[in-house]
Amino acid sequence: MKQLILCVVLFLMAHSAILAQNENSEKLNWWGDIEGFMNQQDKITLGLVEEALSKYPPSYEEPLERRMAMLMLDGVLHERLAAFRPSVQDFLRKRIALAIKELQQTDVGKGAMIWKLYNHGFIVRTASVTFGFDLVRAHSAKADGFLIDNKSMAMMIDQCDALFISHRHRDHADLWVAQSFLDQGKPVVAAPEVWKDESIHKKITHLERVSNKIHALKIQKGKQQLKVINNPGHQGSDIENNVPLVFTPEGMSFAQTGDQSGPMGDWDWIDTIGAQNPVDVLFPNCWTPDIHRMIEGFQPQLVITGHENEMGHTIDHRESNWLTYTRLKGSLTPFLVLAWGESYHYVPK
Ligand SMILES: [Zn+2]
Repeated sequence: MKQLILCVVLFLMAHSAILAQNENSEKLNWWGDIEGFMNQQDKITLGLVEEALSKYPPSYEEPLERRMAMLMLDGVLHERLAAFRPSVQDFLRKRIALAIKELQQTDVGKGAMIWKLYNHGFIVRTASVTFGFDLVRAHSAKADGFLIDNKSMAMMIDQCDALFISHRHRDHADLWVAQSFLDQGKPVVAAPEVWKDESIHKKITHLERVSNKIHALKIQKGKQQLKVINNPGHQGSDIENNVPLVFTPEGMSFAQTGDQSGPMGDWDWIDTIGAQNPVDVLFPNCWTPDIHRMIEGFQPQLVITGHENEMGHTIDHRESNWLTYTRLKGSLTPFLVLAWGESYHYVPK
């Protein structure tokens, strides 16, 4: 009898050890834990997304695997609680870490390296200059843990010479980021109404908002300069939204549109800007009301969209990669859809 009890005890101990091991390595049953299940499902999905993105980087001819990865990303990020899930937060961290590593290790010869960051944030680097558009730490998502931490953002700022902020909304303008640029003696260009009641306002560069004037913006403590046309855009009828067209010393040019969705009058400059100036790359907000007309106006060599999957927006206006593909269907201008942290080496024709 004693031997039998000993056997049963030993069996139970071994069994629970196996269960514990499974729990640590791979939990195989999530009954009663819906959030745990969803987090795990996102983790597995995002792991596969990362694998596909690294195997199939951005290219004009997009293989099915990459397109599927971009749509899987939409699926995960359009879950109502996505930004609160540790697996999604990890994904953002990893994607940004990847961009930081590349930024620290990349010297550009010909053309420009372009990094897409969170929401409508981009960093452009040529042989001589590096500048950012709408760099934010993702606080607009209002989810604890879903953020680009200060240390990571500081590492990106270290790599840049200047920052352009389109307009005042939190998914584009981050005061801590702007102050960090200024603290390093690097210019921040923004629309006049950005932080107009804060002390930072007088340190910000407010270029005249007109489409027929080229401003010189000194960077690298005066050693280099960018030329900028600060187009007078708007979000809706009255929110000032700068649409800078930035010319690098190499003669390439890049325009980011912020939340351009202005009144009909804005088409006056949009329709003609590309006829008057060569544009290499346009970074439009994917949801702008008439993206084809915008592209026709700018006549860029390449379009790279932004503003997909802004987690602070409700599901219906969070935008998505699949919707960008749909909206840009039939575009005669080549376009690329990038995930957070991805880069593309643009070489002009
Ligand atoms: Zn926005």
